[in-house]
Amino acid sequence: MDPKRSTARRPLVVGNWKMNGSLLANERLLADLRAFVDASLLAGVDVAVLPPYPYLAQVAAWLADAGLAWGAQDVAEQSAGAFTGEVAATMLRDLGCRWVTVGHSERRTLFGEDDARVAAKAARALDAGLGTIVCVGETLAEREAGLTEAVLARQVGALAGLASAAASTELVVAYEPVWAIGTGVSASPDQAQVAHAWIRARLADAGLAAGATRILYGGSVKPESAGPLFAMPDIDGGLIGGAALDAQAFAAICRHAQPV
Ligand code: PEP
Repeated sequence: MDPKRSTARRPLVVGNWKMNGSLLANERLLADLRAFVDASLLAGVDVAVLPPYPYLAQVAAWLADAGLAWGAQDVAEQSAGAFTGEVAATMLRDLGCRWVTVGHSERRTLFGEDDARVAAKAARALDAGLGTIVCVGETLAEREAGLTEAVLARQVGALAGLASAAASTELVVAYEPVWAIGTGVSASPDQAQVAHAWIRARLADAGLAAGATRILYGGSVKPESAGPLFAMPDIDGGLIGGAALDAQAFAAICRHAQPV
């Protein structure tokens, strides 16, 4: 375990399975998760996995008594009705979901979700009692153009309307530089810390409980890179993609989030 400052914010590590898995493959992954993410680890760290929607019931059956939480990768901005293909926040609650991500860069880039839509989804999820992880982050072109701070300020500023809905422990921000997602190139701990501190300050500007809000880092986190990242004062855990499909690697990442 790496030295980590003590903090009032409980660490959180979330595995985003993306559009991967099958009933059979999930069985192995879930059995391994139960074995590797044990009670001693869960005593200090909140851990959750986000399977594709069709596997939520399977994951719930495997994890209900294991101390791990589960959730979904997206949610509708509408509450119910004629929205073919969408999934409502209340349905996720029915399936025991604790968490949902909104505004993942793949949703923003591939499915055209803008800040307003992301904020509407977050509001709906919070209303339904879901812990809501809002993903933000700049593209490589934006970073190279010196626009990182402006992009993050815009994305976080769009959350201002959530101030009344969001209990501090229920709203989480994930800083995921787009250039680091799935590329094998993580932000350095210093780069990530600068971005996290900036995000925390913008949360305060937006009237949100900045000091109590957990800010996760996401983007090619591996067991080798997790320790130095999680040791940074404003990094409160991780949103993990590829490495979340390997239970041993995922558990090793979770262990690096344990407080001292
Ligand atoms: C993600 O998809 O949120 C992510 C961080 O992916 P990866 O860890 O594979 O970069």
